[in-house]
Amino acid sequence: MPTYARAALEFERGEGAWLFTPDGRKYLDFGSGIAVNVLGHSHPHLVSALVGQAQKLWHVSNIYKIPEGERLAERLCALTFADRVFFTNSGAEALECAIKTARKYHSANGQPNRYRIITFEGAFHGRTLATIAAGGQQKYLDGFGPKVEGFDQVPFGDHAALEAAIGPDTGAILIEPVQGEGGLRPVPPQCLRGLRELCDKHGLLLVLDEVQSGVGRTGKLFAHEWSGIRPDIMAVAKGIGGGFPLGACLATEEAAKGMVAGTHGSTYGGNPLAMAVGNAVLDVVSAPDFLERVRETARDFAQRLAELKDHYPDIVEEVRGSGLLIGLKMRVANTAFVAEGREQGILTVGAGDNVVRLLPPLIIGEPEIQEAYRRLDATCAALRSAQAPAKAS
Ligand SMILES: *Cc1c(COP(=O)(O)O)cnc(C)c1O
Repeated sequence: MPTYARAALEFERGEGAWLFTPDGRKYLDFGSGIAVNVLGHSHPHLVSALVGQAQKLWHVSNIYKIPEGERLAERLCALTFADRVFFTNSGAEALECAIKTARKYHSANGQPNRYRIITFEGAFHGRTLATIAAGGQQKYLDGFGPKVEGFDQVPFGDHAALEAAIGPDTGAILIEPVQGEGGLRPVPPQCLRGLRELCDKHGLLLVLDEVQSGVGRTGKLFAHEWSGIRPDIMAVAKGIGGGFPLGACLATEEAAKGMVAGTHGSTYGGNPLAMAVGNAVLDVVSAPDFLERVRETARDFAQRLAELKDHYPDIVEEVRGSGLLIGLKMRVANTAFVAEGREQGILTVGAGDNVVRLLPPLIIGEPEIQEAYRRLDATCAALRSAQAPAKAS
């Protein structure tokens, strides 16, 4: 189905932060398959994990024990607030599990009426029927029949509206610590702490969507760690598989208490191939100093981007985001910037609010930052000269 507006560009192979076309052109990949390839392309440790597992066993189903999955779940729990993990194949499925877990929790407590979940304008939680209802964006809901019941949306950053939306049937608050598709709007740490307090006061579960912000992207393993809070439930995907389709829903034992045998399932979720790659990603991302290096890289890149904005205030209005989850708010159309970036050999991704996303692999260093700066500078210069004649006339 022609559901994607694809660029006329294809790649044959990738290495680190670089992608190569069949005719030998190379592109600096600062989109990472939309925040997925955290370790870049063809990372040797991931390749050997995938190939090694492929030669042993691909799939057995969740009828049986999957030791690599138990190991990945235990490691994720050791590294986070969580006690329980459910593996999925995508972000939307991780959100579906998070939503079901929150609803089931209140049902298990004898309050099945508390199935309503508060979400925020500009949010993106996926493209399934429930997650388009949670995201609340009309363009994704249009034509797909009645919106799934039970989501109440409030404006981003409006505390009074949030408090007013909490009713007797509210069971949870669902939020991205940094809005990704919505335009790289971070939730300030004090606001996340405020949300935690509000949830505790009203007996609500705090559900975080860290599908885009997680797995080291902001310089912490998960973005909410910057605020010091602990959620009750968290959806993860994108970076966790480094390019292999993998997602996870993490929860505390208490929040997951309704999710007993038979309540949820997935045929592929957590299969041996995905688990082998997930463990391999975690080997690298959780190694000592890896995240410290991401934070340093992010600081260096932020400095260069501030320079870019100073040189081209007519093109770049603002640099925002967190770590290597970066948004350039544009004064020109973000689509024009992304297209010109491709001409200059750098791949970026558009987002809402006229933002261009820069989501480099977390393994980049000084040479890639220099190269990115050069190409972004060339992109801005080309857009400026394209604008100049129009201004003169
Ligand atoms: C990408 C994304 C999703 C959906 O993930 P899919 O794997 O495309 O289903 C959900 N939430 C956020 C914040 C995302 O960025």
